[in-house]
Amino acid sequence: MTVLNQNVPEFPYVDVPNSPGLFVVVTPTGTYLVDIIEGTCTCPDMEYRDPAGGCKHVRRVRFAVGAATIPRQAVDNPDIQIDPALGEHVEGTPRTSHKGNPELAEMI
Ligand SMILES: [Zn+2]
Repeated sequence: MTVLNQNVPEFPYVDVPNSPGLFVVVTPTGTYLVDIIEGTCTCPDMEYRDPAGGCKHVRRVRFAVGAATIPRQAVDNPDIQIDPALGEHVEGTPRTSHKGNPELAEMI
């Protein structure tokens, strides 16, 4: 799953760089437009299930741009693999929470 903050052909009508909350997520099964401010995504999971806290694409973008924190316990746990490419194609830096409570540090 790759998070981009640039335009892709699937969304020619969206000026992603000039819309700070919009990001494109490219996955093996589809390319989706995510709005982390509104908490929306164009994927089928959001359309049919609308999970609390957003779909995995919304959560992934929030981690990738540093808008949500990764619990410190997850970062320090050698059994949990944090994707080293997280945030590779976007501005911002994934953040971690020493308290391990992402809700408290959530910026959105
Ligand atoms: Zn989604």
